Amino acid sequence: MLVVMQSHATDEQIRAVCGVIESLGYKAHPIPGAGRTAIGITGNTGAIDLTSLEGMPGVVECIPVSKPYKLVSRDVKENDTVVRVPTPLGDVAFGGGSVALVAGPCAVETAEQTFTIAAAVKKSGARLFRGGAYKPRTSPYSFQGLGEPGLKILASVRDQFGLGIITEAVDHESLDLVEEHADVIQIGARNMQNFSLLKRAGRAKKPVLLKRGMSATLDEFLMAAEYILSEGNYNVILCERGVRTFSDFTRNTLDLSVVPAVQRRSHLPIVVDPSHGTGRRNKVLPLSRAAVAVGADGILVEVHHDPDRALSDGPQSILPAEFDQLVGEARQIAGVLHRSLN
Ligand code: PEP
Ligand code: MN
Repeated sequence: MLVVMQSHATDEQIRAVCGVIESLGYKAHPIPGAGRTAIGITGNTGAIDLTSLEGMPGVVECIPVSKPYKLVSRDVKENDTVVRVPTPLGDVAFGGGSVALVAGPCAVETAEQTFTIAAAVKKSGARLFRGGAYKPRTSPYSFQGLGEPGLKILASVRDQFGLGIITEAVDHESLDLVEEHADVIQIGARNMQNFSLLKRAGRAKKPVLLKRGMSATLDEFLMAAEYILSEGNYNVILCERGVRTFSDFTRNTLDLSVVPAVQRRSHLPIVVDPSHGTGRRNKVLPLSRAAVAVGADGILVEVHHDPDRALSDGPQSILPAEFDQLVGEARQIAGVLHRSLN
């Protein structure tokens, strides 16, 4: 259910409507739009009795939202959400017409490896650095990440290079630490339907990058985001990272068609990860070009200076020189679409 307020509704009128919604036992989500505020209502299991809301000052109408997701829907918020990530080098915006770049290794391995890659991607123009301190691996015998010491290395990347940090949380305990040390909390494909972790991310004070589960439908992907918004965190960036199909020449099939599909249904920004989306180094550059062309709000790629010795995802990590080329080509394609890289 959605309560649409008049364009000149006062803060006091909005607060009063929220108060009535809360007094009925539901949760109110005021969502300011370009022209007016809409108030999403969650927490109801069936139809809501609207009689007390419809006559309130400042209310235009109450409309049922037929989709299973509400807060992530364009019905609730027509204009794009722009998630701004503050970094020492300035804000990086996801959504609203620019293309954000995120680059770094799959995993933080050592301080030296991390700093070498950070210096390279910064030189090519990236302002956001990725790298996992907690790695959800298929095998329990594979490198699991450095844990908290890895987060400290990432924090020193921010201090020394001015790059903002995106890193994955795999459970409640790591989310507390990631929230403390990083600028964006990543929820990985394997946790896209870890609903208790999604709720915790919804209570976090930092933006969340939510990856699509490897067999998730579009509705399931958007419902996972809905969990985060429903807890009050509206700064969610979606990430397409490939899904499992019968196709066997890549690790996953990068579903670029989901980008315009998400943009039709949701106001949230969506970025593309061609590294996990293909699993092959030689496909990362062409798929990055395609991601910009299809209208993605950003690209997230794995870069390693010595991929043959990487402790995880070496075969899909591109070299710093290839990343440099990627940035140049992405910039040109973005320009054709009257967008810019940031
Ligand atoms: C990652 O970004 O390194 C990662 C593990 O991604 P995904 O969750 O998409 O597999
Ligand atoms: Mn990886």
